[in-house]
Amino acid sequence: MIRTGIIGGGAAGLFAACFLKKEGASFTLLEKGPECGRKLLLTGHGRCNLTNRKPVTELMQGYHEASKFMKPALSSFTPEDVMAFVQGELGVSLKEEENNRIFPVSDKASDIRDALVDYAGAENIRTGFEVTDIECSEGSCEGRFTVIGKDGTRLRFDVLIMATGGKTFPQTGSDGKSFIILGNSLGHKVTPLYPALTGIPVAGEDKEFTSSLSGVSVYAGAGLYLDNRKHQKTEGNVLFTHDGLSGPAITELARDIPEDVSEHDGWIELDFTPGRDDTEVDKELLEQMRVRPDTRLVTIGADYVPHSVSNALGKRAGVTDITAANITREQRKEYIRNLKHLHLTIDRQPKFETAYVTRGGVALDEINRKTCESKLLPGLYIIGEALDVDGISGGYNLQAAASEAYIAVRGIMC
Ligand SMILES: Cc1cc2nc3c(=O)[nH]c(=O)nc-3n(C[C@H](O)[C@H](O)[C@H](O)COP(=O)(O)OP(=O)(O)OC[C@H]3O[C@@H](n4cnc5c(N)ncnc54)[C@H](O)[C@@H]3O)c2cc1C
Repeated sequence: MIRTGIIGGGAAGLFAACFLKKEGASFTLLEKGPECGRKLLLTGHGRCNLTNRKPVTELMQGYHEASKFMKPALSSFTPEDVMAFVQGELGVSLKEEENNRIFPVSDKASDIRDALVDYAGAENIRTGFEVTDIECSEGSCEGRFTVIGKDGTRLRFDVLIMATGGKTFPQTGSDGKSFIILGNSLGHKVTPLYPALTGIPVAGEDKEFTSSLSGVSVYAGAGLYLDNRKHQKTEGNVLFTHDGLSGPAITELARDIPEDVSEHDGWIELDFTPGRDDTEVDKELLEQMRVRPDTRLVTIGADYVPHSVSNALGKRAGVTDITAANITREQRKEYIRNLKHLHLTIDRQPKFETAYVTRGGVALDEINRKTCESKLLPGLYIIGEALDVDGISGGYNLQAAASEAYIAVRGIMC
């Protein structure tokens, strides 16, 4: 019987363990932490947004540059399949929420984690086992991979699944160190790593601005500019925070911010009336100013944004206390400029410590997208965030982990 080693007991490793168990295969999962699935416990704010019940063609679009790579995995093990497995095999009831997001009925990520661990079987899991290196012998298949633990223990496997995660939330075990093994010992190319799905810190006076509105959420268009060029744009809720911006429209932009962003003159531009051009909004505002001459401009502006935001924009434009009748053309234009093109300078690249997902990882051109097997080392499978795949928010990343685990196990078993 083939002996499979799974390195990493996060979402991807645990799903792979469950699929191997279902097949009656022989395997050992090695997890360096004291327990499996520590990141899984944090998912969905402790509620675990397990997947997203969108059709695969739509779902694929949520994986950025990896959408084509993900097609076979997602088509082989769809969101419906994840749900059927988790409900039918693991016995955890699920529910659907807004935007097709799927959660356990209990709202407890621990129910998903515990069910995966129980199904995989304690006898197949070794926690507290940190893999520090892997040796791979040429040719023969049997016992080809020697996994070396921190204490010098050597374990031999015929087949290996690397499910060591990315680099974010390092306290959960995925601290990025395993990319050294994937790169140096297993010879894979690792693409540059970026923190993804996280808030963006802004600098200086812009930080004072966002801090003054901390906790306020507003719908807006958001653009990421680097070297004076629009690099990426989104639209959705923007949340002001003590050190910058967050919320769905912003976190989707984080994956494009380079480490040396300060050398690229990076900024975020917010548009509080997306879909409408400057002239149209200006004309409308002018008309309101005509019929409400004794009203402050910032009060009229509250037709478009929450009052607190209009006040803060008015302060930036220097029109806080000025009534419509006394506003000059330049002052009105300046207010509109802030309403439509609020420019906030990026302070630095967001931190891996607070990012939900890692962009970058093992290069996809070295991986068979139908099985997640390495094209360089047959018998080696790489799944989960260790790959250069990052999905948008909404259950996409756990779905990727499950689908990749599924095709890897199918590849091993056939
Ligand atoms: C706060 C937060 C909330 C999130 N919420 C969601 C959500 O609701 N929905 C969603 O789809 N995604 C969510 N994500 C993303 C999702 O959790 C990850 O994409 C997913 O957990 C990746 O699974 P993985 O198995 O590849 O990696 P991980 O879950 O990071 O697991 C990797 C495991 O490998 C172990 N390991 C690493 N190196 C070694 C080694 N050398 N030896 C032994 N073991 C090793 C680590 O200890 C770790 O347990 C969230 C992420 C965070 C941080």
